[in-house]
Amino acid sequence: MNIELVNTGSELLLGRTLNTHAQWLGRQLADRGCVITRQVTVADTAADIAAAVREALGRADLVITTGGLGPTSDDTTRESIARLLGKTLRPDATVLAQMENYFAARQRVMLDSMKVQALVPEGALVLPNRNGTAPGLAMEAGGKWLIMLPGPPRELKPMFTESVVSLLARIFPVRENYSCCTLRTVGLGESRIADQIAPRLQPLVGQGLVIGYCAHMGQVDVRLEARGEPAPTLIAEAAAEVRAQLGGSVFGEDDDRLEAVVLRLLTERRQTLALAESCTGGLMANQLTNIPGASAVLLSGLVTYANAAKEKFLGVRRETLQTHGAVSEAVAREMAEGARRETGADFAVAVTGIAGPSGGTMDKPVGTVFIALAAASGTVVEKKFNPFDRATFKELTARQALDLLRRTILAAKNPQA
Ligand code: AMP
Ligand code: MG
Repeated sequence: MNIELVNTGSELLLGRTLNTHAQWLGRQLADRGCVITRQVTVADTAADIAAAVREALGRADLVITTGGLGPTSDDTTRESIARLLGKTLRPDATVLAQMENYFAARQRVMLDSMKVQALVPEGALVLPNRNGTAPGLAMEAGGKWLIMLPGPPRELKPMFTESVVSLLARIFPVRENYSCCTLRTVGLGESRIADQIAPRLQPLVGQGLVIGYCAHMGQVDVRLEARGEPAPTLIAEAAAEVRAQLGGSVFGEDDDRLEAVVLRLLTERRQTLALAESCTGGLMANQLTNIPGASAVLLSGLVTYANAAKEKFLGVRRETLQTHGAVSEAVAREMAEGARRETGADFAVAVTGIAGPSGGTMDKPVGTVFIALAAASGTVVEKKFNPFDRATFKELTARQALDLLRRTILAAKNPQA
């Protein structure tokens, strides 16, 4: 099956907005054994959209469009496609009622101009939009399918998982077996991982296993893919081998996120966490609180940037700060212990480091960071060197700190077991 993607939006061509839909949809489809064969981005004009969709329908079995379903003058996708296919647009009473409810629930007024979003081409299926007003649309045209998805990522993604996946399974069942498993690792470089696992996986590669590596900041994903009859067994065997080789460096699979894994471990164990962040500026607290259920685990997240704040809120001793400096093993230790003492949490994580670009010394160059973890069993402090730009430094440090926490939790006895 050929799938073509038409991303609409002048902002994408002007470099104002990154076309994340191409990446996200590509990944979603590939994980289900379907590959996008061509992708094009066009401006918001009706003529450009119609031309791109006409061309794509000439080649593909399925064309997916994104964007341009909203209420403003530059939202022309619905109309230009209806015109292209010779379909009449009619107001859909159910969609209109859903839109009215959506606005009422948010205590907002629905303007008349918004009602264009309730127009549905004759014969089209409506894909409900849980996070916005414009529904998606799916229709058959001359033996081909066309699916229109909204622009905002927070609307498109749930719509894809909740409606498009089942629709695709119905209209284009994947005949060939396809299995894919991504093992997510933290703390090891990709070459090191490849060196370690590739020789072990070689016999399986001979049977059709495809291995892919994808490095992110502090994390490497190992993707295992196979097609055909033996795919599930092949993938299971390969995943077991990777886990055996990489041990505790594998923190999860597929879309698991490190912060979510940490939160899940703590929730299962009914244990709590406090954070004392300096150089990460609350990033860890942000990452953890993005996960539903964080409140059962996270007691407190302090950003103690100045020395005085470290003293006042965490009880770090002035003498320690003066003797060792704010970026030191001793201060990291006192920060973590102070956070644990003040909150009564089972675990406290503290980070203090030099994000740069200034502030480095011979002793402690830019990128130096100390990560401390205080627990009932005692406090450990790790020194890391992350000499990158500030955003990368923060991201990587947060990964390392969360991983230290994850490994410590796993090594400790589960009080609920
Ligand atoms: P639209 O419905 O086309 O007006 O888009 C609504 C919002 O979604 C705008 O903020 C767009 O910039 C954003 N958006 C549209 N298409 C994409 C895309 N391909 N990738 C990321 N964001 C997008
Ligand atoms: Mg647009």
